[in-house]
Amino acid sequence: MDFEPVIGLEIHAQLLTETKIFCGCRASFGAVPNTAVCPVCLGLPGALPVLNRRVVELAIRASLALGCTIHERSIFARKNYFYPDLPKGYQISQYDQPLATGGELTLASTRVGITRVHLEEDAGKSLHHGFADSDRATYLDFNRSGTPLIEIVTEPDLRSAAAAAECFSRIREILVTLGVNDGNMEEGSLRCDANVSVRPAGAAAFGTKAEVKNVNSFKYLQKALEFEIERQTDLVSRGERVRQETRLWDSDRGETLSMRSKEEAHDYRYFPEPDLPPLHVSAEWVDEIRGRLPELPEARKTRLMRSHGLSDYDADLLVRLVAGGADYFEAMVRAGAPPKAASNWIQGEVRRTLKDAGAETMAAVPVSPEALTELVGLAERGVISSTVAKEVFEKMWVTGASAQAIVDAGGLAQIGDESALAAIVEEIVARHPDPVAQFRAGKVNAFGFLVGQIMKASHGKANPKIASEMLKRALEAPNPPGV
Ligand SMILES: [Zn+2]
Repeated sequence: MDFEPVIGLEIHAQLLTETKIFCGCRASFGAVPNTAVCPVCLGLPGALPVLNRRVVELAIRASLALGCTIHERSIFARKNYFYPDLPKGYQISQYDQPLATGGELTLASTRVGITRVHLEEDAGKSLHHGFADSDRATYLDFNRSGTPLIEIVTEPDLRSAAAAAECFSRIREILVTLGVNDGNMEEGSLRCDANVSVRPAGAAAFGTKAEVKNVNSFKYLQKALEFEIERQTDLVSRGERVRQETRLWDSDRGETLSMRSKEEAHDYRYFPEPDLPPLHVSAEWVDEIRGRLPELPEARKTRLMRSHGLSDYDADLLVRLVAGGADYFEAMVRAGAPPKAASNWIQGEVRRTLKDAGAETMAAVPVSPEALTELVGLAERGVISSTVAKEVFEKMWVTGASAQAIVDAGGLAQIGDESALAAIVEEIVARHPDPVAQFRAGKVNAFGFLVGQIMKASHGKANPKIASEMLKRALEAPNPPGV
């Protein structure tokens, strides 16, 4: 029997605000432990939370970009559980009336429903130290306590580990483009949990799911899910039962390990947060935020394909391969570069030189889009050969001089003038009687050899097209020179 996996994601993203969600403490990573805390985020008795407006704005931005409906009224709720890094004994979250619901995301492979986006606060952090029993200790850092989060929950629409990784990657891209999240999975400001189950292919009912936690890269998400799908398929096909549990991905062992059984999981006893009024979001505010949304990568890719005739492949690379690639491309096209040539240059020489320089964004390219457009123009018009154009580009990068100035100073322009090339063509034909005879006997390869000799004799400056035409005429003439 064939089995299919059913996967849904829960993504926690820290919002890029200056301050925390319910107090004025700095929300920053890496500060000295317990230096960004106050009675509110330490959960001291009597301290009252006040909602940060900027948090709501960023959450609305993300929700709109994910195609969700923003609810005019949503409710904060207490999620009760005891954990050392949660000083209040509860986390303020949203439960049955979240900020936003009902979005969707179109991936290359499939369509994924976005169930909900809700606001919540992060907990503190437990830092475990020491290995031997005698010096083992756990320290608590409350700097992260009260950091604003959104939780994005997808529908169980994903049917492969690869699609799940693509979905997580696309959501990260959207959040980073919006300036809502920094996308840093290593520091934990973006975290993904996956719910996964298997069922006989085509069945309507879901199997028992396991939750995979602790995956901090797209690669690990995919590997953890591949492992989990195989483990569950194996169990079910032997007639055994999948336990509902939380499992942790262990990247060293390359497997998921059982952390705790969900059957003995907490009852969070949610109830409306009495210290915060319902959150009201006006339609005007939502419209205003919608009006300021930037163009998202997927939309930009489609626009580049439509308005500049780029292929899916080229447009995708420009938008995603190098940060700022699409901006640079559009500036070149505005300056008059043919789109395909501009795209080829950015993906080829520019990217290669950038990589050699150890840089990752187009901001590090010292050649302006307008200056590169001038160079591309010289190459397109045949003033310089493509080989010379690459050399000129390297000089532009180092010296900052213009393409025309470098071509003039180095005498690099192609020789396209027949009278200037005639002597060279004549000389080459005279010096290589054997290849000439071979060509006349029908050996086409000999022609390429002779063109190569002309290019060499002209120090790479002969216009190859014109040189070939002249050579052809010389060889087909009834009385070729030198014979
Ligand atoms: Zn605080």
